[in-house]
Amino acid sequence: MNRAILLFILYFAMNSTCVAHAEDEWKERKGNHFIIYYKNAPLDFIQSVEEMAGYYYQEITGNMGFTRYKNWTWDERAKIYIYDNTEDFQQIGEYAKWSEGVASSRERVIRSFPAAHGFFDSTLPHEMGHIIFREFVGFKAKIPIWFEEGVAMYQEKARRWGANDAVRQAIKDGRFMSLNDMTVMELSGRMNTETIQLFYAESASIVNYIIDELGQQRFINLCRKLQAGDPFEWVFTSVYVRFKDLDALNKAWVEYLQK
Ligand SMILES: [Zn+2]
Repeated sequence: MNRAILLFILYFAMNSTCVAHAEDEWKERKGNHFIIYYKNAPLDFIQSVEEMAGYYYQEITGNMGFTRYKNWTWDERAKIYIYDNTEDFQQIGEYAKWSEGVASSRERVIRSFPAAHGFFDSTLPHEMGHIIFREFVGFKAKIPIWFEEGVAMYQEKARRWGANDAVRQAIKDGRFMSLNDMTVMELSGRMNTETIQLFYAESASIVNYIIDELGQQRFINLCRKLQAGDPFEWVFTSVYVRFKDLDALNKAWVEYLQK
């Protein structure tokens, strides 16, 4: 799951980094919600990108309940850059060396390449999930990394299934990290892979629990309330009143997994 780490790091790096590259060599394909830029990628691949991006757009706004979500149209359209291959993609910056895709929510831009591992199943929905979620909660919202990554992983169907089992195993082995531990953790490339993998599995599992078990309507209320920029735990407990703090949520989630 190294890729997930990198997606995370890149996601944050891209939001504050201005990437210089030659725009003039790009061909354009304009859809209703997306503009796809590409160079030599085969047209049938580009058509699939357009089709799948449109599908995920509906799927993601639907599964998170953002039904009155403003449309990405005209000037608001998202941009997807399809680089020819790894080398071409890596030219966007040093940090792209080990990654498969990057997203910038502010610019509403996704960059990847056809050979990216799991392009249609993982990279595309994950990055779109980041952008759609951030756009909905706004840039003032204070979101712990586990929540932000969990929402993006919620869009990767294959990951969603495996996450609960990985967390159950960690509870058994005594490796489990509580939500409070995760909230104060700072992810970095120096952390060991196992810890980061577990961080992502737990992030996916808790967000699955919040959306699927505690209900979509509450989740939408939470996202709305987060827009004001108040502390996450404070907002969370004001929406999910049965939990007095994150520890109580943690306890309910663990009990649910052990049922
Ligand atoms: Zn991510």
